[in-house]
Amino acid sequence: MNLILFGAPGAGKGTQSALLIEKMGMTQISTGDLFRAAIKNKTELGVKAQSYMDQGQLVPDSIVIGMVEEVLKSGVKNFILDGFPRTVPQAEALDELLKKLNLSISKAIFLEVPKAELMSRLTGRRVCKNCGAVFHIVNKPSKTEGVCDNCGGQVVQRNDDKTEVVGARLDVYDQYTSPLKDYYIKAHKYVELNGNRDTEEVFSDIKKQIS
Ligand code: AMP
Repeated sequence: MNLILFGAPGAGKGTQSALLIEKMGMTQISTGDLFRAAIKNKTELGVKAQSYMDQGQLVPDSIVIGMVEEVLKSGVKNFILDGFPRTVPQAEALDELLKKLNLSISKAIFLEVPKAELMSRLTGRRVCKNCGAVFHIVNKPSKTEGVCDNCGGQVVQRNDDKTEVVGARLDVYDQYTSPLKDYYIKAHKYVELNGNRDTEEVFSDIKKQIS
């Protein structure tokens, strides 16, 4: 089964994707992670994406769609799209792409989280530069400040999780991504879950949706 997981930045898409990988053997396609890897490896794609990301703006649709096309063409199965689509034109392009590749999406699961909670999740989030493990300064601090519990890598704040950028990301979400709810309601694929609960509770509801 292939899924879309969507919601505002900080809604828990990455956390839930990690559980779907670990416990259900699914494959995550995270456009944000793909861009961060491209930036780390200093590829042409990374250079193009970086300035948009640092400002909390969306990378242009044509770049994102091209990148996702490459991944889907590689024959990936049982996947979760995390952070894509993020605009209605991206959703339309995805439908075309799926048709061309004879693939389909079963459900678009939306994680609903109130804005104040999103702000605190995002500004308090810290990530390991090496393995990508996610921590939170209050809810889930690393055992030693600045050091990853899993791999000993350096734990830092993402540039786009800084307070001055988070507001822009949430505005971008309201303007461009929230219209996707209607898009997937019309496509009869929309499922809304309360994302403002313990990770395990949210995951249990997601599992019900895919079993
Ligand atoms: P994320 O890790 O999903 O929060 O994504 C981080 C940043 O990557 C976003 O703020 C955008 O700048 C960029 N990005 C990720 N996915 C997309 C997308 N589908 N469309 C446009 N930009 C994206």
